[in-house]
Order: sequence, then structure tokens, then C-alpha cells
Amino acid sequence: MRTQRQIVDYSLRKRVVLRELLAGRVGTYDLCDASPYLKNAARFHGEPTDQRCPICRSENLTRVHYIYGDELKQSAGQARTVAELSVLAMTLREFQVFVVEVCLGCDWNHLVEQYLLGRDGLLGGADDGQERSEASGMTADGTGARRRREAQR
Ligand SMILES: [Zn+2]
Repeated sequence: MRTQRQIVDYSLRKRVVLRELLAGRVGTYDLCDASPYLKNAARFHGEPTDQRCPICRSENLTRVHYIYGDELKQSAGQARTVAELSVLAMTLREFQVFVVEVCLGCDWNHLVEQYLLGRDGLLGGADDGQERSEASGMTADGTGARRRREAQR
């Protein structure tokens, strides 16, 4: 998503957890504990992936996106589909997204990543460098260009 920023990737932590499991230092009972709420969120708002569950290897993982932020008011803490996220990203200035992967087969669940979405991301230009020229065209007062120069220093 184009306003995605401040991405925190938790895949390293996931590898550590899986290594602990292989070594027998933690049991599947500790890791495969998805709550009924999380599983419902996965069923109704989740995004299917073609990634196999690392634990049971019989189901594909589902990704659930939880949203947080003052602007969301009573929606804060709820799960949203990817389509809903892109609408919110164009409506709100800034909100936090937490992505959790869930296996509906064995209840494995893990925080995958977190990031910010929202219109504020358009002003500063995207970090990946793809949106740069487009973003500068969108700010009439030149704040986008100024912010980028500051960021480059
Ligand atoms: Zn599984």
C-alpha cells in the first residue's frame, strides 16, 4: 500500500520461536493458542495466503490486520480486510496496523509485522523511492519537497 511506512518486521522473532520449538524448548501448546476472537477475525476479515503453516504444514496461513489509532475511535483494535485498509489509508491521516498470521488448522499465530498507514504518508514521500516524483506533484505548497530535502540531510 502506497502510504505504508515505519515498517517493523518480526520475521526474525518468528524464526527464533520456530527454532525453539524444533529444539523442544517450547511446545506447540504454547505457540498454537489462537483465541476464538482471532480465529473469527481470520475467517471474516483475514487475507488468505499461499504460505503453508510452519507447524502443521496442512493449512495455509491467514493474515489478520488489526488497526489502532486515535482517529479510529471505536473501531480501534478491530480487524479489517485489505480492501478496507486501503480506503481507511486515504481517509485518515495516520493509523497503526498490526499483522498477525493465523493457522485455522492448528491455531498457530504470530505477529508478522506492524506499520503505519494514512494520508500523512503521501506528504513526506514514500521510503521505497517509487512514489517520489508523484508525491511531490501532490503538494501544492511545496512542503513535500521541503520535507524530502530535510530527510536527505
Ligand atoms: Zn497449522
